[in-house]
Amino acid sequence: MKIICIGRNYIEHAHELNNPVPAEPVFFMKPETALIRAGLPFFYPDFSKDVHFEVELVLHICKLGKHISEKFAHTYYDKIGIGIDFTARDVQSICKQKGLPWEIAKAFDGSAPVSKFISRENFADLYDINFSLEKNNETVQKGNSGMMIFNFEKIIAYVSRFVTLKIGDLIFTGTPAGVGPVSIDDNLKAYIEGKKMLDLDIK
Ligand code: MG
Repeated sequence: MKIICIGRNYIEHAHELNNPVPAEPVFFMKPETALIRAGLPFFYPDFSKDVHFEVELVLHICKLGKHISEKFAHTYYDKIGIGIDFTARDVQSICKQKGLPWEIAKAFDGSAPVSKFISRENFADLYDINFSLEKNNETVQKGNSGMMIFNFEKIIAYVSRFVTLKIGDLIFTGTPAGVGPVSIDDNLKAYIEGKKMLDLDIK
């Protein structure tokens, strides 16, 4: 399986990092070794002094597809979860300055903790899903799927022009504003519609 991540999908987050609002989705990938299943801790990597959390809704792909049209894109994901797109922001800044790829800042081991998933039928409105993140029991990020620049269908259609989607692939759909650093001994809790989905210790 592979993990596809959308960048700059919320206007306020693009602004907070001084990035332009994109005309087309921006995506990058993390390998399977980035995945942390719910319940396991995140170990702070030794190559960064500024690891940031980015809470994101995550789609679970349920069907093989290439060149998927927007119209049928909704049939290619069956479940929604929540995850953290951990980012070594100091390393990423250097990559950006040098015009280099982001992998060492984004794709490192453990950089993608993901919750259990909720079937899409359990959501009353997929374009109005509230989610949030607490750091040490204080809310630091709040988002709603309706605020995304590119919705789930647009993301699936765009990504599948370039990359075949396979069953079990995950798509991180972008983070709202409020990203910030974590430190060893911090705790992160991620919620969908007020339900705790992820409880993650930083070690
Ligand atoms: Mg992100």
